[in-house]
Amino acid sequence: MPYEGFRPDITPLDAPFWDAVRRHELVVQRCDRCGQLRFVPSERCRNCGSPSATWTPVSGDATVYTFSIVHRAPTPAYQADAPYAIAYVQLTEGPRMPTRLVDVAPDAVAIGMPLEVVFDDVDDDLTLYRFRPKESP
Ligand code: ZN
Repeated sequence: MPYEGFRPDITPLDAPFWDAVRRHELVVQRCDRCGQLRFVPSERCRNCGSPSATWTPVSGDATVYTFSIVHRAPTPAYQADAPYAIAYVQLTEGPRMPTRLVDVAPDAVAIGMPLEVVFDDVDDDLTLYRFRPKESP
Protein backbone atom coordinates (compact mmCIF):
# COMPACT_ATOMS: atom_id res chain seq x y z
CA MET A 1 0.00 0.00 0.00
CA PRO A 2 1.48 3.39 -0.91
CA TYR A 3 2.43 5.67 1.93
CA GLU A 4 -0.30 8.28 2.53
CA GLY A 5 1.13 9.93 5.63
CA PHE A 6 3.07 13.05 6.46
CA ARG A 7 5.68 14.32 4.01
CA PRO A 8 8.00 17.09 5.16
CA ASP A 9 7.75 20.35 3.22
CA ILE A 10 11.48 20.51 2.58
CA THR A 11 13.02 23.97 2.24
CA PRO A 12 16.61 25.04 1.47
CA LEU A 13 17.04 25.63 5.21
CA ASP A 14 16.23 22.08 6.31
CA ALA A 15 17.19 20.14 3.15
CA PRO A 16 20.58 19.11 4.64
CA PHE A 17 18.73 17.54 7.58
CA TRP A 18 16.46 15.47 5.33
CA ASP A 19 19.37 14.55 3.04
CA ALA A 20 21.17 13.16 6.09
CA VAL A 21 18.08 11.22 7.18
CA ARG A 22 18.06 9.65 3.70
CA ARG A 23 21.62 8.46 4.47
CA HIS A 24 20.41 7.19 7.89
CA GLU A 25 22.29 9.93 9.73
CA LEU A 26 20.96 12.45 12.20
CA VAL A 27 22.46 15.95 12.04
CA VAL A 28 21.80 19.27 13.73
CA GLN A 29 23.20 22.74 13.14
CA ARG A 30 26.23 23.80 15.18
CA CYS A 31 26.83 27.53 15.45
CA ASP A 32 30.22 28.43 14.00
CA ARG A 33 30.67 31.28 16.48
CA CYS A 34 29.50 29.96 19.90
CA GLY A 35 29.25 26.21 19.23
CA GLN A 36 25.65 25.85 20.36
CA LEU A 37 23.75 22.98 18.71
CA ARG A 38 20.26 23.71 17.49
CA PHE A 39 17.16 22.04 16.11
CA VAL A 40 14.79 22.88 14.41
CA PRO A 41 16.94 24.46 11.72
CA SER A 42 17.11 28.24 11.83
CA GLU A 43 18.84 30.99 9.89
CA ARG A 44 20.55 32.44 12.97
CA CYS A 45 21.82 31.17 16.30
CA ARG A 46 19.34 31.84 19.08
CA ASN A 47 22.24 32.19 21.51
CA CYS A 48 24.57 34.62 19.71
CA GLY A 49 22.77 35.62 16.51
CA SER A 50 25.44 34.33 14.15
CA PRO A 51 24.12 33.29 10.70
CA SER A 52 27.01 30.85 10.23
CA ALA A 53 26.46 27.20 11.14
CA THR A 54 27.72 23.75 10.18
CA TRP A 55 25.61 20.59 9.98
CA THR A 56 27.02 18.22 12.56
CA PRO A 57 26.26 14.52 13.16
CA VAL A 58 24.82 13.52 16.53
CA SER A 59 24.70 10.10 18.17
CA GLY A 60 20.99 9.47 17.81
CA ASP A 61 20.76 8.72 21.53
CA ALA A 62 18.05 10.61 23.37
CA THR A 63 15.54 10.49 26.21
CA VAL A 64 11.81 11.20 26.27
CA TYR A 65 11.35 14.88 27.20
CA THR A 66 7.57 14.86 26.89
CA PHE A 67 5.06 12.73 25.03
CA SER A 68 1.43 12.27 24.07
CA ILE A 69 -0.58 9.20 23.13
CA VAL A 70 -2.57 9.54 19.92
CA HIS A 71 -5.86 7.63 20.04
CA ARG A 72 -7.62 9.42 17.18
CA ALA A 73 -5.22 9.85 14.29
CA PRO A 74 -5.05 13.21 12.48
CA THR A 75 -5.62 11.56 9.10
CA PRO A 76 -6.96 8.16 8.01
CA ALA A 77 -3.41 7.18 7.00
CA TYR A 78 -2.44 6.85 10.65
CA GLN A 79 -5.63 5.41 12.13
CA ALA A 80 -4.54 1.78 11.78
CA ASP A 81 -1.51 2.60 13.96
CA ALA A 82 -3.48 4.17 16.83
CA PRO A 83 -2.93 4.28 19.70
CA TYR A 84 0.69 5.38 19.27
CA ALA A 85 3.08 7.74 21.01
CA ILE A 86 4.44 11.03 19.70
CA ALA A 87 7.13 12.80 21.66
CA TYR A 88 9.65 15.55 22.03
CA VAL A 89 12.93 13.79 22.63
CA GLN A 90 16.05 15.37 24.07
CA LEU A 91 19.21 14.36 22.28
CA THR A 92 22.18 13.44 24.43
CA GLU A 93 23.89 16.43 22.78
CA GLY A 94 21.11 18.78 23.96
CA PRO A 95 18.68 19.77 21.20
CA ARG A 96 15.10 18.51 21.30
CA MET A 97 13.18 17.18 18.33
CA PRO A 98 9.62 16.06 17.64
CA THR A 99 9.21 12.46 16.59
CA ARG A 100 7.10 9.38 16.72
CA LEU A 101 8.06 6.54 19.04
CA VAL A 102 8.11 3.01 17.63
CA ASP A 103 8.60 -0.50 19.01
CA VAL A 104 7.02 0.47 22.32
CA ALA A 105 3.54 0.03 23.79
CA PRO A 106 2.01 3.46 24.42
CA ASP A 107 1.41 2.70 28.11
CA ALA A 108 5.10 1.79 28.54
CA VAL A 109 6.38 5.22 27.48
CA ALA A 110 7.82 7.30 30.32
CA ILE A 111 9.56 10.65 30.61
CA GLY A 112 13.31 10.08 30.72
CA MET A 113 13.15 6.73 28.91
CA PRO A 114 16.38 6.12 26.96
CA LEU A 115 15.90 6.08 23.19
CA GLU A 116 17.83 5.57 19.99
CA VAL A 117 17.10 6.82 16.50
CA VAL A 118 15.89 4.49 13.76
CA PHE A 119 15.22 5.25 10.11
CA ASP A 120 12.18 4.25 8.12
CA ASP A 121 12.66 4.13 4.33
CA VAL A 122 9.07 4.90 3.41
CA ASP A 123 9.53 4.92 -0.37
CA ASP A 124 12.01 6.01 -3.03
CA ASP A 125 11.61 9.68 -2.13
CA LEU A 126 11.21 9.68 1.62
CA THR A 127 12.98 8.43 4.71
CA LEU A 128 11.64 9.37 8.15
CA TYR A 129 13.41 9.31 11.50
CA ARG A 130 11.79 7.67 14.53
CA PHE A 131 12.96 6.83 18.03
CA ARG A 132 12.61 3.54 19.89
CA PRO A 133 13.56 2.40 23.38
CA LYS A 134 17.28 1.76 23.76
CA GLU A 135 18.26 -1.49 25.35
CA SER A 136 20.64 -1.18 28.26
CA PRO A 137 24.15 -2.33 27.30
ZN1 ZN B 1 25.93 31.02 18.38
